Amino acid sequence: MFSLQGKVALVTGAATGLGKAMALGLAEAGADVALVSNRSPLDEAVAEVQALGRKALPIVADLSQESEIPGVVAAVVKEFGRLDILVNNAGIIRRTPAADHAASDWHDVIDLNLNSVFFLCQQAGRVMIEQGSGKIINIASMLSYQGGINVPGYTASKHGVAGITKALANEWASKGININAIAPGYMSTDNTAQLRADQDRSRQILERIPQGRWGTPEDLKGPVVFLASEASDYMNGHVICVDGGWMAR
Ligand code: NAD
Repeated sequence: MFSLQGKVALVTGAATGLGKAMALGLAEAGADVALVSNRSPLDEAVAEVQALGRKALPIVADLSQESEIPGVVAAVVKEFGRLDILVNNAGIIRRTPAADHAASDWHDVIDLNLNSVFFLCQQAGRVMIEQGSGKIINIASMLSYQGGINVPGYTASKHGVAGITKALANEWASKGININAIAPGYMSTDNTAQLRADQDRSRQILERIPQGRWGTPEDLKGPVVFLASEASDYMNGHVICVDGGWMAR
């Protein structure tokens, strides 16, 4: 039920952190994987997918540019002839107080974290509607529920990701497409390096996590395989927290 043998996945932001781990998790479950990144080199992730005996297609694209998005999905379909799983993971964060938040920071975050998620869903959705099947997994955040501190654009974008997930689930559940989201808790990646370097904030965060540790990229492998597989065929429009219990506090 959890096998992804013969499936084709597209994972954005797959060079590092959570995206790389999820790409490997999908490959371990049997999927061939297209990996997208703008700057960080994809060589290591590609080699690790291939070492699992799966095909890997590296794609360099700046997803904050709407015009680059159709080409990404087209490249996957050209190479593999189909697209079964889309993981919208690429995302950035800009930490400055709201009163000082630069307009450029706001726009950069919204362009990547929110706009690219919708346009990738749209492009992939067209292929999946034609196929009559597909799985879309958007990466949300604790800040799809909470306000956060000094990250107004990020919070707005991640609330939006939860909204897109529900809106498209309503439209596409009847077309054989399951669209859900994963909301990671506080995970140890580049995205949280600044937080972890701040001893006070790091301690406050750890004190609130019932499991008593930061999450790791590997903690997302099981949930993403579940949402990409037949095991979740009757799930639509949910945002699943993978957070060591943070939201239970
Ligand atoms: P990360 O910085 O390691 O990874 C982000 C990835 O996105 C990188 O591979 C980068 O190359 C790619 N990327 C950045 N800008 C891009 C662009 N313009 N076009 C294409 N790719 C681009 O951080 P991460 O923690 O692995 O974050 C992955 C996702 O998880 C993000 O959406 C983030 O908001 C979300 N998230 C992270 C945490 C956490 O605690 N780390 C918590 C909740 C949600």
